[in-house]
Amino acid sequence: PTPKRVALLGATGSIGTQALDVMRAHPTRFTVTALSAQSNAELLIAQAREFRPAVVVIGDEAKYETVKTALANQPETEVLAGVAALTEIAARPDSDIVLTAMVGYAGLLPTVAAIQAGKDIALANKETLVVAGQLITELVRKYKVKLLPVDSEHSAIFQCLVGEEQNPIEKIILTASGGPFRGRSRTELATVTKAQALKHPNWDMGAKITIDSASLMNKGLEVIEAKWLFGLRDDQIDVVVHPQSIIHSLVQFQDGSLKAQLGLPDMKLPIQYALGYPERLSSDFPRFDFLAYPQFTFEQPDTATFRNLALSFEAMRRGGNAPCILNAANEVAVAAFLRDEIGFLEMSDLVESCLTKVSYLATPSLDDYMHTDQETRRVAQTLVGSGTKSA
Ligand code: NDP
Ligand code: MG
Repeated sequence: PTPKRVALLGATGSIGTQALDVMRAHPTRFTVTALSAQSNAELLIAQAREFRPAVVVIGDEAKYETVKTALANQPETEVLAGVAALTEIAARPDSDIVLTAMVGYAGLLPTVAAIQAGKDIALANKETLVVAGQLITELVRKYKVKLLPVDSEHSAIFQCLVGEEQNPIEKIILTASGGPFRGRSRTELATVTKAQALKHPNWDMGAKITIDSASLMNKGLEVIEAKWLFGLRDDQIDVVVHPQSIIHSLVQFQDGSLKAQLGLPDMKLPIQYALGYPERLSSDFPRFDFLAYPQFTFEQPDTATFRNLALSFEAMRRGGNAPCILNAANEVAVAAFLRDEIGFLEMSDLVESCLTKVSYLATPSLDDYMHTDQETRRVAQTLVGSGTKSA
């Protein structure tokens, strides 16, 4: 087959570097047309020298000269900088698929542009579907592109649904590791540090999603992501804690049968599945050893302690711009926690305050989402400054 032409946005992150590992292992199957980074110029330059894409984007405009100079002897690679450039390269005609591996709300506009240009999307950037799931899924239908999940839980469900196109889903069950603080009380959580929160038991990921995993916001975002990816009602989505992270998620059909996808916790597998779809490419990833996992265990998530999960379900039920508010408040909260400006529990306090303070819109447009995001960040930043406890 002719190689798939891949534009990789967020190439220097955890997902981005693993995606390049996958493509490096299958040089006849993939060519890299575009790479982007926000500020890691050194790694972007090294990746550009190896993969020789037609264009690279460095988000931080102050680093443009550094990248441009380093790639001066590589005229086939154009160098661009800034936010608008990311949206521009997402829509260029020389790619077939865009892998969205940038973090946060910044994924929204490039993803919209890519869909409108007819690109298939390998979606790692879950925030895009949380913020604007309705709008994105309508665009996906209108432009007849594929939306292929990279998130491991959603990849698991997607894999379980292959061949089941005729069969209604009764419900899906998202598995959660429970993160580093599983079993802790609110009193204990009040004093946990960012170093403790950054140590995930099973997965090695970027800082934002690692904090989200510790606070269960990651699972909340994934609940909303699943609703839109699989067209589900709110009451068709369950979460179960499975600390071993081997069962990546399950689908329950109307005959009561459960299908699951299992594997070692390694994001390369779902990345490769999304890029290779519908084919399963070969891999030398470590194979599962049953004796290393003599038991699988399951628990109910503790939503009274980890309030972000309950807030996410609530935002999903409210719909409209509520998930956009939830996401923006959380992005501000995580950044503030990582700067030691607020404590661990104050993150969900801040999200809850923003959900009550920012105006609700039932049927937001793209402009409304952009406005809601900005307004929520402003409100959240004020709350960080004044202490969030007086919600
Ligand atoms: P990282 O923080 O490791 O990487 C983020 C990437 O995006 C980097 O290339 C970074 O550039 C770039 N970036 C950062 N800020 C911006 C911005 N404002 N605009 C454009 N690009 C930006 O994140 P992860 O790889 O962990 O996660 C990426 C996405 O994938 C997230 O949405 C996450 O939820 C999702 N995901 C991640 C998983 C994982 O295992 N890591 C699992 C499932 C989903 P630079 O390096 O220069 O800062
Ligand atoms: Mg996940």
